[in-house]
Parts: sequence; structure tokens; C-alpha cells
Amino acid sequence: MKDNIVLHGLSFRPYLPEGQIAERVTELGQHISRDYQGKSPLFLAVLNGAFMFAADLIRACEIDCSIAFIRLASYDGLNSSGRVKTVIGLQEDIKGRDVIIIEDIVDTGQTMSHFIPQLEEMGPASVAIASLLVKTEALECDVDIRYTGFEIPTKFVIGYGLDYDGLGRNFPEIYQLAD
Ligand code: 5GP
Repeated sequence: MKDNIVLHGLSFRPYLPEGQIAERVTELGQHISRDYQGKSPLFLAVLNGAFMFAADLIRACEIDCSIAFIRLASYDGLNSSGRVKTVIGLQEDIKGRDVIIIEDIVDTGQTMSHFIPQLEEMGPASVAIASLLVKTEALECDVDIRYTGFEIPTKFVIGYGLDYDGLGRNFPEIYQLAD
């Protein structure tokens, strides 16, 4: 793992090493495999941030499954907050499917709490969330996160798919904003 890194002038310190992430992702995959034994879930990986976690998580799952990649885009519409997200790229028919959303990080929970009702309108058999990181103390919404990789403090993190203004997604480990 590198020492402190600097992106766009901000300094980040090492936080979660690659090995620790790999171990936890393997555990989550085993947990999901047990819970969905005999089923064939559809993973919905939320781009961009979850691409690396999704690739590792589904490799750790020993069940039949499929994966689709979606984006959650803010739309202007009548909502002035800019926080309401609409889903794009979902071509699969999710009616009757067991859906597992793969997220990189849940912070306030706003994104997921807007997205879940949109998904439920499409008639899935079940919906669960797997999030690599959860900022537990920042949660403002009642979101049920079935599979959590790590609970972390309310500090900005990058690496393993997560970016700061476009940079940092390629690091195999996770870094936290230095004070
Ligand atoms: P929420 O709607 O739960 O507040 O925010 C979720 C989204 O905010 C995540 O999918 C991610 O895009 C972004 N986000 C929240 N915290 C962080 C963070 O510490 N680092 C990065 N790179 N993105 C974050």
C-alpha cells in the first residue's frame, strides 16, 4: 500500500488495504451464496463507483447469477434538490427476479431511498442492497442494507472504484481524506 497520496491537491492516507478488502468481499460472496441457494439473483451494479467491488463480489458468489450495470442520474425536473435520481441503462425485465443492488458506498442513504421505490414498482420478487462501505453516522434515511462490507466514519474516501473528481478509482486499496 502506498503512503499518503495527493489528488487534485488533496492528501489521502491509507485506510483499507487490498488484502482486508479481498477477505471481506469473499465473506460477503459466501454469505450471499448461502442466502440465495437455489435462486438465481440479478445483481445491479451501480456505475461508476461499484465496478471494482461488483467484479470481485460476483466472482466470490458460487451460485447462478446475472449482472447488469446501471447509472443513477440526477434529473432536474420539478425537483430542485438535485438529489433525486433516476435509473438509466436498465434493460433487463426485473419482474419476479431476486435483485441485489451493488453499491460502492452509502452515505446519507438518499440515493438508495429514492431508487428502491422505483425498482419496487417494476415488480421484483425481492430487493437487497450490498454496499462495500456504509457511513453509518451519516445515514439520514431508513435504508435496509443487507450486506455491508465495512462501516466507516463520515470522512471522504477514494480508491477501489471510488474517485475524487475523476481520479483514484484505479487504486486497489482505499484511502481516507487526511485531516
Ligand atoms: P448518499 O445518497 O447515500 O448520500 O450518497 C451515495 C453516493 O455519494 C455514493 O454512491 C457516492 O457516489 C457518493 N459518495 C458518498 N460518500 C463518498 C465518499 O466518501 N467518497 C466517494 N468517492 N464518493 C462518495
